[in-house]
Amino acid sequence: MNENRYKHSKEWLERAKNVLASGVSSEFRKYNHPHALFYTHALGTRIYDMDGNEYLDFTLSQGPMILGHSHPEILKEVHQYTQSGQLYAGQHIKEIELAETLQRLIPSAELMRFCLDGSEAVQTALRVARSKTGKSKFLRFEGHYHGWLDNVCYGISAPAVEDMGARENPKVFPWSQGLPPDSRNEFHLLPWNDLELVKLALSKHHQEVAAIITEPVMCNSGCIPPKEGYLQGLRDLCDQYGIALIFDEVITGFRLGLGGAQRFFGVTPDLSIFAKAIGSGYPISAIVGKKEWMEEIASARVIHAGTMNTCNPTVAAALATINILERDQPYDKMFELGERLRSGLREISSRYRKDLLVQGIGPVVHTGFTQLKKANDFRDVLQFDQGKLRAFVAGLHDAGIRVIGRGLWYISAVHDEGDIDSALEVSEKILRQ
Ligand code: PLP
Repeated sequence: MNENRYKHSKEWLERAKNVLASGVSSEFRKYNHPHALFYTHALGTRIYDMDGNEYLDFTLSQGPMILGHSHPEILKEVHQYTQSGQLYAGQHIKEIELAETLQRLIPSAELMRFCLDGSEAVQTALRVARSKTGKSKFLRFEGHYHGWLDNVCYGISAPAVEDMGARENPKVFPWSQGLPPDSRNEFHLLPWNDLELVKLALSKHHQEVAAIITEPVMCNSGCIPPKEGYLQGLRDLCDQYGIALIFDEVITGFRLGLGGAQRFFGVTPDLSIFAKAIGSGYPISAIVGKKEWMEEIASARVIHAGTMNTCNPTVAAALATINILERDQPYDKMFELGERLRSGLREISSRYRKDLLVQGIGPVVHTGFTQLKKANDFRDVLQFDQGKLRAFVAGLHDAGIRVIGRGLWYISAVHDEGDIDSALEVSEKILRQ
């Protein structure tokens, strides 16, 4: 690596540390290579740091930029709509148009509320489930990320797979200090993709479980699709025991298709969360659900509020994003490019006899180094070689290919074959060494 490649970012990071705790505004931004970087502009598939380095971006800013950076139609809509105001503390027509659009596209979206981010929409869904069922706990899965708030700030890290405890009774590791001790008692934790474990747990605990919350594809630890019948199995168990099935579609929403993972897999949850790609980089999320569940909010038994909810720029951005996705239907192309990247990386890995495992679905690709032929859950992912992954991601980054540090690649509607081939060319150079 050229010593000076990130020089100005490093200087600004030192300055930033005097005013921002550790120099960043979100924990995840620290994990850039070789340290948190400062960016100056971004356009289409390219993003530029303050040292003048250009990157072909596969992070999509952790997912939201599904139409690429600075999409002209989004910018125009936001600009035009904010000429008439920014926030009314009241209703406006565009948010109804947005809600009607979601209702038409998403199978479970009979009623909804908008929030600002995924974390708070998750909490709203859990509150709805508790209120309707009169039960207090939820069941969740190892390696699934549902935001950084107290009761979900567990189960996404572990020192090593040997420390994780029995599959039927996992050890629960907090991701943060300072969590209220009682928050640990709000949920049961299980490995994902194992229906028998869920059956066993519910046979013992169904009387206290209000909800099962799951990412429909485990995108936050590897990118692992559900086993055949797994989501339907969860659906059936929820029906059997009167439990809310919550799909956290913060990543899968508008990425696997306009109807989210729920339409893709043909399993309709009671409640679901959409964020990230819904807003093209503007802070908006939605909790959507079946009427009988969302009635908890409609009746004000459950309170949901927020000063900034549906402020004009976010609604304009979300409506424009979805209208463009619906008009342009980029999904076939995004899926093809995802497959081109996966198969290209697999071919390179086998040619150079590397232990690169490439998984994923549609426009989401995950790369990890392991002898395993397939990863099914977080316990498998924990065994991946983190040193090799770090070196691979760093090599890509130094050559101008930006992927998420945990080996995740997102493909947008504006990537093309040439972008995938450039990424494969750089990957080959790194892997053959
Ligand atoms: N749920 C999932 C599946 C996520 O991936 C994330 C964020 O990455 C969240 C919830 C939290 O969303 P936010 O960061 O918008 O609060």
